[in-house]
Amino acid sequence: MIGLFRQLIRDIEMYIPGDPWKACDICGFKRRSSEMAKSWDGYIVCADTCLDPKHPSLIPHRLPPDRIMVRESRPEKETFIEVDYVV
Ligand SMILES: [Zn+2]
Repeated sequence: MIGLFRQLIRDIEMYIPGDPWKACDICGFKRRSSEMAKSWDGYIVCADTCLDPKHPSLIPHRLPPDRIMVRESRPEKETFIEVDYVV
């Protein structure tokens, strides 16, 4: 209880308007909001230690459209080969 009270007093003494304390979603340490960053998956994390960049393999490749457009395309018809002889 005394420890919490001391922490509260320290927080009030170190009050900076517009820069509140936040807890990191990864490590749990308390830091200033200006030292935190939002990760690509939505977590609020420490900007210098816990921020993990998004891996390039998680970003889907976008293929460019075809240069020559086929108008009114249809699927190929199935062709059957008839054999007249008996094996
Ligand atoms: Zn952290």
